[in-house]
Amino acid sequence: MEWGSVTFGAFLGIAAVFGVLSLALYPVIRRDFLLWATVRTLCFVIMSIALFPLELPAFFPAGELRIDVGEIALSLAIGSTGPFLATYIENRPRFARVRFWLYKLFALGVVGGLATALAPVWPWLDRVHDILILVMILGLIAGLAIAVRAGSRAAQYQAVGYAPLIIIALLVLAYELGTGEPVTYWPVAALFAVLIDFIVTAAGVIAGYMTVKRQRDAAVADVREARIAVATDPLTNIANRRGLALRFRDPAHGRPRGLAVIDCDHFKRINDMFGHDIGDEVLIAVVDGLKHENVFPARQGGEEFVVLLYGEDWQRLAETVRRRITISVLELVPEVPFPVTASAGLTEVRPNDTLDSAVKRGDEALYAAKDAGRDQLLLWQDGKHSQPRLVHGV
Ligand code: GH3
Ligand code: MG
Ligand code: MG
Repeated sequence: MEWGSVTFGAFLGIAAVFGVLSLALYPVIRRDFLLWATVRTLCFVIMSIALFPLELPAFFPAGELRIDVGEIALSLAIGSTGPFLATYIENRPRFARVRFWLYKLFALGVVGGLATALAPVWPWLDRVHDILILVMILGLIAGLAIAVRAGSRAAQYQAVGYAPLIIIALLVLAYELGTGEPVTYWPVAALFAVLIDFIVTAAGVIAGYMTVKRQRDAAVADVREARIAVATDPLTNIANRRGLALRFRDPAHGRPRGLAVIDCDHFKRINDMFGHDIGDEVLIAVVDGLKHENVFPARQGGEEFVVLLYGEDWQRLAETVRRRITISVLELVPEVPFPVTASAGLTEVRPNDTLDSAVKRGDEALYAAKDAGRDQLLLWQDGKHSQPRLVHGV
């Protein structure tokens, strides 16, 4: 086995892995440097296949045309390095200008490719191609140098990776522009240099991907946490008024059948007799009593709760959770020796109800329940308040 083909095989393998990897990571973090890395890899692969002395399948252009394909791919590969760098280096205001100019290099790469394509008609365009490649390389060197001096870690890293390729390209160009003769052996040297470039860039791209993903995951987690926090009551860990509003209009859970406003009776007395901390424990125990299948409890404020009721049995359910409050507080807060009761106002949720309109009726029924002596549930019906007819008892 000869050295050249081993190198070439390794090169193609690494290029394929790198190209596919960059493309595969794109949907996860959607950063453009991954797409430019793929374009650049593809161009370098085409260039290498065309310019490396290999037996190629019949469909590949041969002779002069094959060299032209290689030269066009080379021009696009170097040109796409500009936008790759522009999107890869840190997104900070002080790099904005250098990023702007790096983007422009791709246009030069396209013009360089066109020059080669048209050179059979106007042979002087071959020189234009070489000059454009030189300009692009100098542009990349300048861009990298400016970014490195401005403190870009990413540019520092890429400068190391590109160094071998840039040195070889400059030597070849100097020779070709000086003598007018092509350098015949340069593809082998270039291959090694591109290989080093790929390995360094791949490591950088993976590191960049990890950084972006870590930042993005942290941001997503923060937003999720914040969203939950603003909709949650910190003392009892159930929904607050905002969480209640979100749930009320959440199509995933459908519309509740009923709504009850529940308020603890004589709660001030508990605070006064046992202190605010025991008061807080009682509130936590109240919430424990409100938790039930087909019930969504929310803390409206103070010791007042709103529960959304689902299912056919919604009226009975409201009375069940109201009574569970007393049992739960007796069990969980032994410091309070007497039963803590609650009053509740219940209403059905009508098709055209907003949360506010339903809560308003619930509130009215609640006040009627307080007036009627507390420790009871009243149902709002056509402006009147009555005990709901609880078919199965509670
Ligand atoms: P009733 O509803 O039966 O008319 O009497 P009440 O004593 O419950 O009346 P009111 O609604 O006026 O009092 C509620 C009390 O709840 C007042 C306030 O000190 C207390 N409270 C409100 N929020 C909290 C809280 O987060 N923790 C504690 N411990 N107490 C609270
Ligand atoms: Mg009260
Ligand atoms: Mg109250």
